[in-house]
Amino acid sequence: MSLTSTTPRPLIAGNWKMNGLSAALDEARAVAAGLDRRPAAARVALFPPATLLHRLAEAVEGSFVLVGGQDCHAQAKGAHTGDVSAEMIADAGGTLVIVGHSERRTDHGETCARVAAKAQAAIDAGLEPIICVGESLAQREAGEAVAFVVDQIRNSLPASLTGKAFNVAYEPLWAIGTGRVASVDNIVEMHAAIRAELIARLGDQGATVPILYGGSVKPDNAREILAAPEVGGALVGGASLKAKDFLAIIEAA
Ligand code: PEP
Repeated sequence: MSLTSTTPRPLIAGNWKMNGLSAALDEARAVAAGLDRRPAAARVALFPPATLLHRLAEAVEGSFVLVGGQDCHAQAKGAHTGDVSAEMIADAGGTLVIVGHSERRTDHGETCARVAAKAQAAIDAGLEPIICVGESLAQREAGEAVAFVVDQIRNSLPASLTGKAFNVAYEPLWAIGTGRVASVDNIVEMHAAIRAELIARLGDQGATVPILYGGSVKPDNAREILAAPEVGGALVGGASLKAKDFLAIIEAA
């Protein structure tokens, strides 16, 4: 990514998914310690499971590591057993939240409309959402990937984004947790289409919204991916679980 005065620093986001018991806090501490040794060229955030959110936020307090939730409910509070609100994430020390991850869309039947409502709830609670989109392998092979993802963007962004900090993450489903990475050409094409849609929707603001790539980002491919046009960071799953790997990806930004 070529940086200009208005380009935000790339965001390197580590999504632990349903991984991590108390001992994993040591990995978060190691990430924080690794960043303390030098000024970070990137923004760095960890997204632990909800059970660790508060303790992880305390463990990295005062460091460069930001903390976020992996999902939030669209409502501020109420009778929603097992769910977590955006305000609860903020109260636990989070400043960001992932919404619309493909595993939520697939496992929990989340529609674009629900994702948009969650993103709105996040913004209302003062959180910075990362709104995820991405096509299936069947859609890519049918030549429908760009049209599908642009449609997801249109329908997953809430109405009132003007002036609000948020991110988009492009994560092709076939690249998540598979070791298979989208080609740089695929990434560049998709990020350009997403950028055009963001500008059409938000004007100048749309030109600076970070668009993260996610899908088997590892220390050995991060530099090439992060250098591609319109790539404003990475959403990292498996490789964020070990501080050494995650720090190597941050180093590549
Ligand atoms: C993800 O969890 O969003 C992800 C991209 O996972 P992985 O890096 O393991 O493919």
